[in-house]
Amino acid sequence: MRKVALLTSGGDAPGMNAAIRAVVRTAIYHNLEVYGVMRGYAGLIEGVMHKMDLGSVADIIQRGGTILHTARSQEFMTLEGRQKALDNLKNLGIDGLVVIGGDGSFRGASELHKLGFSVIGIPGTIDNDIHGTEFSIGFDTAINTVVDAINRIRDTATSHERIFLVEVMGRSSGWIALESGLAGGAESILVPEIEPDYNEIVDRLKRGMGRGKRHSIIIVAEGVDSAYNVSKEIEKRIGLDTRVTVLGHIQRGGSPTALDRVIASRMGALAVELLLQGKSNLMTGIVGTELITLSFDEAVNKKKTIDINAYNLAGILSI
Ligand code: ADP
Repeated sequence: MRKVALLTSGGDAPGMNAAIRAVVRTAIYHNLEVYGVMRGYAGLIEGVMHKMDLGSVADIIQRGGTILHTARSQEFMTLEGRQKALDNLKNLGIDGLVVIGGDGSFRGASELHKLGFSVIGIPGTIDNDIHGTEFSIGFDTAINTVVDAINRIRDTATSHERIFLVEVMGRSSGWIALESGLAGGAESILVPEIEPDYNEIVDRLKRGMGRGKRHSIIIVAEGVDSAYNVSKEIEKRIGLDTRVTVLGHIQRGGSPTALDRVIASRMGALAVELLLQGKSNLMTGIVGTELITLSFDEAVNKKKTIDINAYNLAGILSI
């Protein structure tokens, strides 16, 4: 192994830059040449990559987004596209690739491995929906952003004695809703994995009001339904006005938390070490405080379910 490349792919996540910095600096520490590929697999097919030095990743650990930019590429879904990408890597004499992204990006990485190229993945997605790792880069920052928003919304909800619905990201995964709802003391949390029970939500609101509680916050993962539709269902049943806030893309940006930076730094270093050991077709992960690896096949074919104990706990604590 003499030369490695890295790219970020799929949805961006805060902490990707910290992972880029760790990959570049660990590679240089081990006397490897390292190339940054722009715009994910799209840039790999177009051959848009440049050599990175120590200074190229200075002053980025604290920045959200990704300095390598990210894109989705239909062409990489075809064998011809992947062959072009492979030719570009080989023409530059590159022998290993680090892919920072979500499960779609790992499916692509696994296909590249099948063509005989060494690839290691680092999980980067705010959704935290990748099997085999407790954390993916960006999740901790995203839930802290949501908790900050909940705190602000609670101030006005309290002053005006209102029911607020907060829509958060998570098309098929309720992790952001669950953990931010638990941390933000939400009265109800709606996740795509569990059918919403409107009677239970309304009973909960009424029980709170019976105790003199005049405001409530309900977290809705976008995959459940639009929070506007959910609010209509609740208003119909309880006969009170509600307010809706859709947080949207603010959840994807911002300076990464210390946890995201630390995880990204550790995984970035491990990815390079794995390539040096001749490993491929693996994703890095974290379980407890330990770094682990697992195959792309296992990571993408098993579904990561939400922590049902945490979900039940949130229900008990907001009784
Ligand atoms: P994420 O990595 O965040 O899940 P996507 O699902 O959009 O994001 O995947 C990112 C890119 O990975 C896609 O645009 C595509 O180029 C590539 N990709 C996804 N699935 C496959 C696949 N089955 N085969 C080859 N490439 C894939």
